[in-house]
Formats: sequence, C-alpha cells, structure tokens
Amino acid sequence: MSLTRLEEVRRAFLADLDAAGPDAAAIEEVRVRYAGRRSGVLQELTAVLRTLPNEEKREYGRALNELKKLVESKLRAAKERASSSGRAASRPVIDVTLPGHVPPRGAEHPVHLVRRRIESIFLRMGYSVEDGPEIEDDWHNFEALNLPPDHPARDDQDTFYLPGSSLLRTHTSPVQARVMEKHAPPIRIVVPGRVYRRDSDLRHSPMFHQLEGLVVDEGITFGHLKATLEAFLKELFHGVEVRFRPSYFPFTEPSAEVDITCIFCGGKGCGVCSRSGWIEILGSGMVDPRVFEKIGIDADRYTGFAFGLGLDRVAMLLYGIPDLRLMFSGDQRVTRQFA
Ligand SMILES: [Zn+2]
Repeated sequence: MSLTRLEEVRRAFLADLDAAGPDAAAIEEVRVRYAGRRSGVLQELTAVLRTLPNEEKREYGRALNELKKLVESKLRAAKERASSSGRAASRPVIDVTLPGHVPPRGAEHPVHLVRRRIESIFLRMGYSVEDGPEIEDDWHNFEALNLPPDHPARDDQDTFYLPGSSLLRTHTSPVQARVMEKHAPPIRIVVPGRVYRRDSDLRHSPMFHQLEGLVVDEGITFGHLKATLEAFLKELFHGVEVRFRPSYFPFTEPSAEVDITCIFCGGKGCGVCSRSGWIEILGSGMVDPRVFEKIGIDADRYTGFAFGLGLDRVAMLLYGIPDLRLMFSGDQRVTRQFA
C-alpha cells in the first residue's frame, strides 16, 4: 500500500518537472512542493516510515531513499538546464566582422610639453628637477621667503587657506626653502608645479603652473643670473633679444623682470605686445641674504639667484593659444592639435 504511494509520487513528480520546462521559477515551485523542508511531499513520506510495522519498514525505507535521490538529481539537472538556457537567451549576438570602436588618441597637454622643453634645457646645464607639496604651511610659503605677516601677498584675496594652519601654495618658491633646508650648497634646481590663487578672470585661473629656478654657491653673481637666463630664453624662443628691468620681489635683492622681443612681430610692435615690441616673460633676482639667514645658510659665504616664470603663459606664446581658459577646458579639439 505504502509502496504504491511512493510510485504515485514518483510519477507525479516527473510529470510536474516536465511541465515546468526550462522555467527556473516553475522548477523552484516543483522543488518546494516535493523536496521543501517544511511541508514537501518527501517530508510526509518520511513521516509515514515511523508508523509502519517493522517488516515493511526496511523495504519502504529503501524505496523512499531511491525516490529522494531521484528527486534530487532530476531537480539539479533541471536547474542547470534552466540557467544555461537563460544565459543563452541573454547573450548578445556578436558580429566579429564589424569594425571595432577605435579609442580616441590622447596628446600631451601644451603646458606639459613646455615644461619638458624647459626642463631639458636646464638638465643640460647641470640642474636637477625638484618637486614639493601643493599643500603648504605658512613658514615655507611665506615666512622663510621673507614675506612678513603684513605683506600684501598674504592677503586673503590671494591665498586659499585650508582648515588648520595649512594653505594651497601660492607659488613654487616654498620648494626652494625646502631644498635649502635639506641640502647644503651648491644647489642648482628647477621646480615645476601647480600653484593656486583666488583669482579667476579672462587672464587668470585659480590654478596655474609655474617653474622656479634656484642656484646657490660660493661666488654666484648677477652676471651668472644674466648669462643663464639669456641662454635659456634664446634657446626656448629661438634667438629673441633679452632685456632686464629693475623690479622688486620680497625674496630677492636686487630683482629684475626679464623681457624678450615680441615673437609675433619681431620687435616692431603689435597687438600682443601692446605696440611695445617687448613681452614680459619672467621674474628674477639675487637671493635676499635674509632668506638665507632664516633658513640657516651662511649669507657671508654663499650667494645665489632665483627666477620664476608662468608655464601657461609660455605655452600660450609658443603655441599661439589665444585664451587661458582653453588650456584648462579639457576640450580634446585643443589638445589633439599637439599629438
Ligand atoms: Zn608684438
């Protein structure tokens, strides 16, 4: 009697599973109906075992185990079929003969190109390239460079202050201070990098690029400064004339601004050079002995010179880029021209 019941269940299970087909949800329903832990049919049949007289128990038990194994293996096979047919249905058809997507080709940014050109000129002169943090402290950005607390360059309108006592460096000069703290002279370095000022209009961006140079040794004179910068500018701008004008910077004394003959009109006068024939290109000067004293370099023994220029401005001049904002727009039509 009870064995007949097992046979009935076996047939019903196979029929139900067949009806479910490759539908994963329907297969799961069949699983719950027969092999569910709470109220599956197999659970009921197992409960029957205890009620049987001893002579029937053995045969029923064996038949029940076989049925359980069958249910288990059929369910597993059905689920595998369902998941593989599901994958097949969702798999996109790939036409391997179609031409592929060509990834757009990048190009070096004009600022980076200019930076590498300038670095290579100074590397050949025996300089090394130094780097420093963009988040600075007051000492390295101002104090060590002879910028006292009441100096206008410290005005809130120029400097991005960060929580605590740090700030975004307003120039690459703090790296000069850091190098002089760590290394005894002779020092010959150039320092390219990003700097930040609270300034944004047609000709200013809150982030821009500078390149700074520093030479410290015994017997360095203004003559070294002049010869070095003339050689550098004549190579970068191909044979321009160079002139020096007296100027003022807090960390150099004496100081000079340096002009080149206009690369657009050759010195005759045009719109770019405001009809003057000259373009201002960098600032320079002999390191102020007070800077040496603050950092702990013997100002009686050593002298030095420093200079700085805007890489963005040089890139605009060299490549004829009319608007500073184009440089940082991320527009690939601009950068692709430099590939
Ligand atoms: Zn000109």
